[in-house]
Amino acid sequence: MVNDKYSILFEPLKIGPVTARNRFFQVPHCTGMGHLRPKADAATRAIKAEGGWAVVCNQETEIHPSSDLTPFPEGRLWDSRDIPALRLMTDAVHAHGALAAVELVHNGNHASNLSSRAPVFAPSDMAVDNIIPKQAKGMDKSDIRALRRWHRDAARRAKTAGFDIIYVYAGHHMTLPQHFLLPNMNNRMDEYGGPLENRIRLIRELLEETKDEVGDTCAVAFRFAVDEMSGADGMQASEEGRAVVEILAELPDLWDVNVSDWSNDSATSRFMPNEGYQTPYIEFVKQVTTKPVVAVGRLTSPDRMVSMIKRGVTDFIGAARPSIADPFLPQKIQTGRIEEIRECIGCNICVASDNMGVPIRCTQNPTMGEEWRRGWHPEKIETKGKETEALVVGAGPAGLECAMQLAKRGYEVTLAEACADLGGRAVLEGSLHGLSSWKWVADHRIYDLQQRGNVKTFSQSLITAQDISDLAIPNVFLATGAKWRRDGVGRSSRRAITTDPNMTVLTPDDMMSGQLPPSGPILIYDDDQIYLAGVLADHLSSAGYEIIFATPATNVSPWTENTLEQAQIQRTLIKRGVKLILGKTLTQIYADHAQLSCIYSKSEQPVEMASILLVTERRRKTELYDILRKNSDDTPFKKLKLIGDAEAPGLIADAVFSGHMAARHFEKSQSTIEREYFRREIIALEGN
Ligand code: ADP
Ligand code: SF4
Repeated sequence: MVNDKYSILFEPLKIGPVTARNRFFQVPHCTGMGHLRPKADAATRAIKAEGGWAVVCNQETEIHPSSDLTPFPEGRLWDSRDIPALRLMTDAVHAHGALAAVELVHNGNHASNLSSRAPVFAPSDMAVDNIIPKQAKGMDKSDIRALRRWHRDAARRAKTAGFDIIYVYAGHHMTLPQHFLLPNMNNRMDEYGGPLENRIRLIRELLEETKDEVGDTCAVAFRFAVDEMSGADGMQASEEGRAVVEILAELPDLWDVNVSDWSNDSATSRFMPNEGYQTPYIEFVKQVTTKPVVAVGRLTSPDRMVSMIKRGVTDFIGAARPSIADPFLPQKIQTGRIEEIRECIGCNICVASDNMGVPIRCTQNPTMGEEWRRGWHPEKIETKGKETEALVVGAGPAGLECAMQLAKRGYEVTLAEACADLGGRAVLEGSLHGLSSWKWVADHRIYDLQQRGNVKTFSQSLITAQDISDLAIPNVFLATGAKWRRDGVGRSSRRAITTDPNMTVLTPDDMMSGQLPPSGPILIYDDDQIYLAGVLADHLSSAGYEIIFATPATNVSPWTENTLEQAQIQRTLIKRGVKLILGKTLTQIYADHAQLSCIYSKSEQPVEMASILLVTERRRKTELYDILRKNSDDTPFKKLKLIGDAEAPGLIADAVFSGHMAARHFEKSQSTIEREYFRREIIALEGN
């Protein structure tokens, strides 16, 4: 029974000729699987439908070889041979009673056409969006006519593939219809350029032609970024963004509205902590159109969802990331299991996988992307075999996840943690500026463990090898984590850096355990180049410390390009007055200064500081494992396994995944594990 308070979320709603069973709408999002891994993609979407979403969209789906996003595997509907792969998804989604939607796209100058070698198109001559040695061709009238035909043909193919909702897509700075709309990308002098009525022409034509082609049975959705979030330099919701909605108000069957570019739409919790952060931009839309509206903004709280619908902000609760973190979010609300929702922490590891062109992964949901290839289900796990007991040492993300899944399987689980707080690095990193929602990785799992009768949890329990032997639990999972190095060994220096003992040398672990640096300037040396050094610089500078940030990289936290944060991180540090020294390695640490060396010229630069914070590399904590392994012949362990950062330091997402996999693999033979490592979609060699 649905709690009355939330019943509005489960009211059906018509979208043109189709009806959504409730208000939960999984908006388009990439999976890094797309046309290369269609079975895996279909299974990921099917899980969302099973979890109660009324509408499940695929990802941007290229309509023609001149919109070729290779090497990124997005959806593809270039011709009718692409239909069967997409049919896998629509059948799977329909089998669970949801509507299937497709986001047709022509990416214009955002597509590099590296595989197809087609000319790149744009409204006017300009550079290609990505840094490649090629310029986009300003489209002539015959190109525009061809584009309209391609879109119409793709819509027809999408209908044949079984889609119920077909998108026209103008958002994220990534699509031709939006490029035509933006004055800074459209210098045309003809009826497609100049005043808004002209710049909007292509969108109107695409909407009308899509409706004409498929509108009898399919709804036509319009995804539109109402604001570029660059003030008067771009489109603003208060001006042309609103005018577009006013002009096209009743033309689409559904308005899917958001902000642009992708880094603003998929803003991380670090820079956009509040849920519903897009509401101020999109809330006017429902006042302008009678058609249903879908809105996003990392929405996970059912009370907020109800309020957004009641206040007339939106008709549908749109979600990409919340549906990735918890595909069963709607069902959990419907069945009153709100505490069980795995809330998206806004870390953008899912986004990073797409940016790296690999199958999607999620910090909170280790089964994401593994539904087909590993057969993992987010809510189900095989019951235990013959073994009855397991000990998990370390309650960081790996240990918590492993303990939770082992408990779900039915084992008697003992979980021991040295610290007072459970959560390991999720809690420690979560104490840093901007990362507080990362603690939810721990919260979700601790809550789950507390509900179970078969888990004994001990905090403030530093476990020794003797303790483990005394406990006589035959199956032991060691999730003992990793510690940051203090000797400077890292990517750029495989040897310890000579250090004067009179200099205070700090590590991220010191900072996260609450140690305060001495007064005076702190040199943060980032040879890790992922995210943590940038976070610490932000954390310490916001606490008033004078920071010098040096790195061999040529920008700050370069890996965070993948999470769409890099520019914001660098901007924040510059605004805070952090002195950036880029392209320099650390060669020696003296009592009052450090010596840096240019990665190109090798010219030396001294930097004075009162302390140095080294963010270079981590050492695995394997002491327990090493002792227990040495005695393995005469100890009674049936299972002794290192997991998480103790096995291979990585992201929190990797630690959760490792803990999850260890629990799933427990009691399987090595040969089964190797055979089932994962299924692959092998390219078919038949046909031409
Ligand atoms: P991971 O990301 O792999 O989960 P973390 O560093 O977050 O790694 O967590 C490891 C946890 O293991 C820490 O909370 C640490 O206190 C705990 N730990 C390490 N060694 C022991 C031990 N011998 N006994 C109990 N807990 C331990
Ligand atoms: Fe949310 Fe992070 Fe999972 Fe993406 S990876 S869905 S941002 S928790």
